[in-house]
Amino acid sequence: MHLSSSTTTPPPASTRRRRATAALDPRHTLLVSCFDAALPLERLGLSARGNPCAQVRSPAHLVAPWSDEATSENALLTLSLSMRETHDVVICGHLRCAALDALLDQERDAAASRLLSQVPAAQATLDLVRRNYGDLGGEALREAAAQENVLTQLDHLLTYPLLSRVDGPRVHAWLYDERDASLWAYSFEASQFVHQVSPW
Ligand SMILES: [Zn+2]
Repeated sequence: MHLSSSTTTPPPASTRRRRATAALDPRHTLLVSCFDAALPLERLGLSARGNPCAQVRSPAHLVAPWSDEATSENALLTLSLSMRETHDVVICGHLRCAALDALLDQERDAAASRLLSQVPAAQATLDLVRRNYGDLGGEALREAAAQENVLTQLDHLLTYPLLSRVDGPRVHAWLYDERDASLWAYSFEASQFVHQVSPW
């Protein structure tokens, strides 16, 4: 009886706002991250007592933009979002990344570069980086590319109907820098990545 009444009561309109200041709950968080990112999940609040949050991982955490057609490109993320209650979605890039290396230096790993260039979500980042950061190199280029890739894939993420709803999950865009174990979170208000002071 209690269960029945609680599941049929609609959530209050202010749920999303109240959640805005709440800490992440790993049981209701989906992490979209790179296949080779060694993220300190516990420190980031993405794991509790050894139980990590749900994760979707791929090279360069690529996200295919939403399409009405139920393509396999969309299916994994859509399933991950819909199979359990999700309050927060975190897309997290990182700096020490084999996929970024392949994206930025086509001679380093020609086969991987060729494959990445055939993935529209990766090509979108590469086009942007070439257009805006042609004068950068080395670590500066890597940092710019990592940031732009998080934001490009974030844009794709926000095309999913569940995530564009007012009462949908919160969406966070992070960048983890292995060089000094620092976390940077994108501020939608300031339109830039902001250093997060530990403990996060
Ligand atoms: Zn990576």
